[in-house]
Amino acid sequence: MTTPLPSGSTIGIIGGGQLGRMLSVAAARLGYRSHIFEPGAQPPAGDVAHAVTTAAYDDTTALTAFATSVDVITYEFENIPTQALDLLQTLRPIHPGREALRVSQDRLTEKTFLTDLGLTTAPFADIPDAAALTAALDTIGTPSILKTRRFGYDGKGQSRLTTAIDAKTALADMAGAPAILEGFVDFSFEISVIAARSIDGAVACFDPGENVHSDGILRTTTVPARLSPSQRSDAILIAARILNALNYVGVLGVELFVTPKGFIVNEIAPRVHNSGHWTQSGCAVDQFEQHIRAITGWPLGDGSRHSDVRMENLIGDDLMRLPALATAPHTSLHLYGKPEARPNRKMGHVNHITPR
Ligand code: AMP
Repeated sequence: MTTPLPSGSTIGIIGGGQLGRMLSVAAARLGYRSHIFEPGAQPPAGDVAHAVTTAAYDDTTALTAFATSVDVITYEFENIPTQALDLLQTLRPIHPGREALRVSQDRLTEKTFLTDLGLTTAPFADIPDAAALTAALDTIGTPSILKTRRFGYDGKGQSRLTTAIDAKTALADMAGAPAILEGFVDFSFEISVIAARSIDGAVACFDPGENVHSDGILRTTTVPARLSPSQRSDAILIAARILNALNYVGVLGVELFVTPKGFIVNEIAPRVHNSGHWTQSGCAVDQFEQHIRAITGWPLGDGSRHSDVRMENLIGDDLMRLPALATAPHTSLHLYGKPEARPNRKMGHVNHITPR
């Protein structure tokens, strides 16, 4: 068995949002310190971390000082500039590793990786230019979605095509960025599997959660999802196959569309995931602790589900409901400490718990 990092070691976390904040809290509970690297001022994670570096991703002096002050590096988002990672990896181990980032940073690489593994994705085509879009529309057809290959999140960088006439506008929406066309999947509902793999290669998956999005943003995750026992095992096996293929260390989110013909993999996220927040109230060991355990060489903990949970994101003005939520029974409240409630900004979440 791997010897875990000693108590008092420091975990470097790239990105200082709410995921970095909850990772820092989990690290502290296991006796570790955390050091946040974040270009923006007053990051939510800064309130609970031992140290914060405020610097740009091309500031090699700051990156070097950050790396040499920590024992292991992880991250809360996948779009970290390659040059920053090239430097950091010469100084400290980065978990999850570069392969997971390479695959997930680009939708074309990601879909190709998934189909090479024998998994099913939406039909897709590389769209470097207008001619490629015309050709792809002949095979994939409409409805379909044009997505930027990189830097898409919460439904950003996406344009729907109802008919081929929409092609010109959709391409203009991409603003010259490389894109892929995806066939529209007529799914029954969406689920995600939050899965973990330790340094020793052990795999543990949380129960799949059922997700509801609107305007491309996750609103709720409910466990248990409406899956049969065999569907549940299949979903977990898909996540395990991805983890092993990437020789992955840490927590990974896998988003799946459920269709009458089986699962279609939408995307993977090499990090803790919004749809895994329910684990804070539904399991003895939640996704944040599981991630810290994995990257510091601990054995994975017991992530079996002891309660039914509905996680609800608090977005923008949802904060007005705080007085009622604060006194609601079986309700666990998490606020991210963000100063201003802008529309579509994730301000916190609540877990509505039904003990089993
Ligand atoms: P994404 O950023 O790829 O996760 O997309 C955000 C949301 O848009 C997904 O959770 C789905 O609800 C929807 N979506 C994305 N791709 C497709 C697709 N190919 N077919 C149907 N819905 C999609």
